[in-house]
Amino acid sequence: MFDRTIHMGVANIVIETVLIVSIVCNILLAAGFIWKSKEASRDHLTQLKNYKAFLREFYKYARNAAKKEIPFAVLFVDIDHFKNINDQYSHLSGDEAIKAVGQRLRSEIKSTDLIARYGGEEFIVCLKHCTLSEAENVANRMLRVVSDNPVNLEKNSIQLTVSIGVAGYPDMPLERLLRTADKNMYEAKRRGRNRVHAGNVYV
Ligand code: GH3
Ligand code: MG
Ligand code: MG
Repeated sequence: MFDRTIHMGVANIVIETVLIVSIVCNILLAAGFIWKSKEASRDHLTQLKNYKAFLREFYKYARNAAKKEIPFAVLFVDIDHFKNINDQYSHLSGDEAIKAVGQRLRSEIKSTDLIARYGGEEFIVCLKHCTLSEAENVANRMLRVVSDNPVNLEKNSIQLTVSIGVAGYPDMPLERLLRTADKNMYEAKRRGRNRVHAGNVYV
């Protein structure tokens, strides 16, 4: 009788241990999965979102906002004459400059807005619940935060500017929003760089 009680006690301890171990394993697996999917959404250099993750979140937000007639805007940001920066200071310094510009741009938006590295020296931003004219103001703040704050590296201080194209919903239909912001960025370049362009051409 006494022997049986000891056996049952041991069996209970084994079952509880197995249960605890399996719960811990599941928690670790879930944490690993979340970390991995965050990693897959991130741009390695700037730690901002990558373009793919941006598009996923952007369209989810944009479709819902459009249904509710909430205004929002998209900004394309491109660093001016960046090839010269690489040529003059090295690619590694260029990388640091891209990172710093990403941080400066992010400092001008709300934590709920979306910002991603589009690729190379280009960024894309979605300002949620924001009219076209408010978006122009934000873009002008971005211009200033970049041009007024050179990137200080060990040996050099790099002066940068950006050109920004803006497009807003509902001024522009959703399916043409990204293309218009991109076109407007090129128009800002054409007009002399270090400026915002928010024209509403139907492209
Ligand atoms: P613009 O004012 O017309 O935009 O001129 P730009 O020189 O910035 O544009 P261009 O497209 O001619 O050159 C972009 C440069 O950005 C070329 C490429 O070497 C550099 N670049 C792209 N990705 C990276 C990167 O990850 N790191 C560094 N250091 N440079 C990059
Ligand atoms: Mg570019
Ligand atoms: Mg450029």
